[in-house]
Amino acid sequence: MPIKVEDVSYIYGKNTPFETKALNNVSLEIDDGEFIGLIGHTGSGKSTLIQHLNGLLKPTSGKIFVDGIDITEHGVSLKEVRKKIGLVFQYPEHQLFEETVYKDVAFGPINLGINSEEIDERVRWALTEVGLDYESIKDMSPFELSGGQRRRVAIAGVLSMLPKVLILDEPTAGLDPGGRDDILREMKKLNSENGITVILVSHSMEDVARLADRLIVMNKGEIVLTDTPREVFKESKLLMSIGLGVPQITLLFEKLREKGWNVRSDVLTVEEARDDILKRVRIDA
Ligand code: ADP
Ligand code: MG
Repeated sequence: MPIKVEDVSYIYGKNTPFETKALNNVSLEIDDGEFIGLIGHTGSGKSTLIQHLNGLLKPTSGKIFVDGIDITEHGVSLKEVRKKIGLVFQYPEHQLFEETVYKDVAFGPINLGINSEEIDERVRWALTEVGLDYESIKDMSPFELSGGQRRRVAIAGVLSMLPKVLILDEPTAGLDPGGRDDILREMKKLNSENGITVILVSHSMEDVARLADRLIVMNKGEIVLTDTPREVFKESKLLMSIGLGVPQITLLFEKLREKGWNVRSDVLTVEEARDDILKRVRIDA
């Protein structure tokens, strides 16, 4: 299910006093099995962009190809597209509405007319993948759950559609660090073990840096950078100028370089930093 975005622009409230250009000639390609971190400051256009990828928004100009088919064209089945490209909105738990967890997760597949045996299987699988215990949670009301558990149920509700591509809009917003790390780890597992393409939207570098194969960095409706996290972090000046941080250790090394130390410009982790400094100390000694 490769995705290709070609020259897409999007304007909210066209021809009104509130006209806002949210996307400006965006082009990108996403391959099967990638784990993408889509990052950018608030208002940079991330949410607008991902809603184009499953046909929820239609570009003002430009094209979107999913599996080689232009989904902006008349007559394309968006129902099929949405089955394959699952989109988890920001604060998805606000959209839970059934009286049990089971019914909420089963809602999508039931609408597809799938038989009850397979629905059972899907619900069990989806809840397990998001780290919940099927037996103990299936008959509970979503309202009895913690915020983090509710968010997982909502994600499971998209997973039960068996998407090939899973897009999550700020899935860790408002969670404590423990819940945040768990969800990120589960998304990584879905990617590496199930081959699901994951597009994780975030405004925080710390969230996506270690997980993503590739980052797509947005600013003011445009893509300003796309590369591996390591390459992206070399551009710390650019990143900071658009309101994004880099990991503290990367920043520390940047400062050392400014002071004339000949250290690496692309460290991501404290372990790498330690090795680099030790190497340097040995050479100097
Ligand atoms: P992000 O997800 O990166 O925070 P958005 O895609 O939500 O960015 O927003 C991009 C731009 O579009 C911002 O200027 C925002 O104010 C504007 N925008 C977003 N949603 C709407 C909307 N429904 N109506 C009008 N303007 C919007
Ligand atoms: Mg957003």
